[in-house]
Amino acid sequence: MARLPVLRPAAQAEPLGLYLHIPFCLDRCTYCSFTTTRDRSLQPKTHQRLLEEVRSWGAALGRPAVDTLYLGGGTPSLLSQDELVELTGAVRAAFDLAPLVEATLEANPGTLDLPWLQQARDLGWDRISLGVQALDDGLLGRLGRIHGAAQALEALELAERAGFQRRSADLMVGIPGQSLSKVLEDARTLAATGLEHLSIYLLDLDKACPLRAEIEAGRLALPTEDEVADVFEGLQVELPRLGLEPYEISNYARPGAESGHNSRYWERRPYLGLGPSAASQLDAFRWTESGNIAAWTEGRGTVDFQELDAAEALAEIPLLALRLHRGLDWAVLRGQAQVLNLRPLCDGWETRLRGLAREGLVLWDGDRVSLSARGMLMSNGILQMFV
Ligand code: SF4
Repeated sequence: MARLPVLRPAAQAEPLGLYLHIPFCLDRCTYCSFTTTRDRSLQPKTHQRLLEEVRSWGAALGRPAVDTLYLGGGTPSLLSQDELVELTGAVRAAFDLAPLVEATLEANPGTLDLPWLQQARDLGWDRISLGVQALDDGLLGRLGRIHGAAQALEALELAERAGFQRRSADLMVGIPGQSLSKVLEDARTLAATGLEHLSIYLLDLDKACPLRAEIEAGRLALPTEDEVADVFEGLQVELPRLGLEPYEISNYARPGAESGHNSRYWERRPYLGLGPSAASQLDAFRWTESGNIAAWTEGRGTVDFQELDAAEALAEIPLLALRLHRGLDWAVLRGQAQVLNLRPLCDGWETRLRGLAREGLVLWDGDRVSLSARGMLMSNGILQMFV
């Protein structure tokens, strides 16, 4: 809070995205590295602390305008109905929600019922993102998910019945034992439910977790890189046929149904994150709350605060925008670099991007630059130039 004099004007300059992190799950998935715990005894205290954070940040920043809200986790659908009412009310009181265009909540299909969903909808939450991951009970069991395939499809239907017209699902690629044809079949089944958005994630085992231990012990095998690339290529062809167009490396949506909150991350627009491990970015400032849930709840956690210099902030623009299918206007970036005396840095990136265009990985259309479909598959390597 010592930096409030610089944060407050940044928070008033344009509407923010507000992210709230609910760090509880019924059980721990075998691949999970998110900040979450099964210890629900902490939930009442953590909830009270989150309410205090919402109130104090809203007041400190001068009740700033918020145009996208996101309740993530963990499993936000583990909030009781009373807790959801209190939290939503606190947000409405502490922030100006007049410009709100989207209020998303994440939910685990194994924790939903119709009254909870109806109440969430009545409170103004209008978009739901369900962690489906796969429609195969064997694969779901391997991932340690608490739900089966039928329950995931039922949750999508329940959400629709509760009035959630904006529904998204996560699908995972790269699970040991998962085949290309099964991923495509799952994508077709999900698209047939009429959902408007699909996020496709590659199984990420960078951090220690039970699934990684199984693989290291040789009891399970990951698909090869070529097999994974085949799945992503297959999805790039199949999903547009199902009406779901790619708009970001991992995200597909029906026209006009892109995630407003997530898009702000790629457009490098400001956001405030509250809750353990939540990240914020205002102007050149970025910070992450402590990921130690007990410490955060008691107000003891250390905040990791960073002030980006001009070159770092400039590099983040193409690093994030090139994840989007529409890419970015390089003339605008060049102009920003000129003002900041960083033209040589920007020209160096441009030379490399023009070289990648000759390899078919990058597309130039006048000043607009974006990754090709093949470039999207190799984005990790390409985007390294901005890190
Ligand atoms: S539901 Fe999500 S946050 Fe919870 S353990 Fe599973 S992957 Fe992690």
